[in-house]
Amino acid sequence: MNGDYTFSIVKPDALSTGKAGQILAMINEAGFEIAAMKLTRMTLQHAESFYSVHKGKPFFSNLVELMTSGPVIVMILRHNNAVEEFRKLIGSTDPAKAEPGTIRKKFASSITKNAVHGSDSDENAVRESNFFFSETERFL
Ligand code: ADP
Ligand code: MG
Repeated sequence: MNGDYTFSIVKPDALSTGKAGQILAMINEAGFEIAAMKLTRMTLQHAESFYSVHKGKPFFSNLVELMTSGPVIVMILRHNNAVEEFRKLIGSTDPAKAEPGTIRKKFASSITKNAVHGSDSDENAVRESNFFFSETERFL
């Protein structure tokens, strides 16, 4: 992977409120192609490991609770300059600060329940993709 890919999660809050279809449509309409996708559920161990960089922060337990509360859609997405372009599409972590037209502005209900995850670097896109997808599940 070399800058053409990012990794995303449609979080449990977006699935439970029935927003997954609209979110996937926005992702496609913004020109991202789906290179891998599945519906899965994170275990406690998965969530703690996936978000280990945030361990010790005050929101960590709420974040882990959210991410294990129901199914998630995990995806590898292809686009030029994918990491940065996808972060623009999802908007700020805090929906109150997110730009109009971004996914989080439209669908996040709080700073924790913010509908989607997007990798913050190429390195993390690789790490996060490897966390969920085997080679045979990718269509790069
Ligand atoms: P992002 O998802 O935008 O990369 P971070 O990596 O900083 O944001 O945080 C990971 C996730 O933890 C966020 O998407 C959000 O669900 C939650 N989170 C981050 N900061 C806070 C906060 N101050 N209060 C509550 N939840 C937070
Ligand atoms: Mg992050």
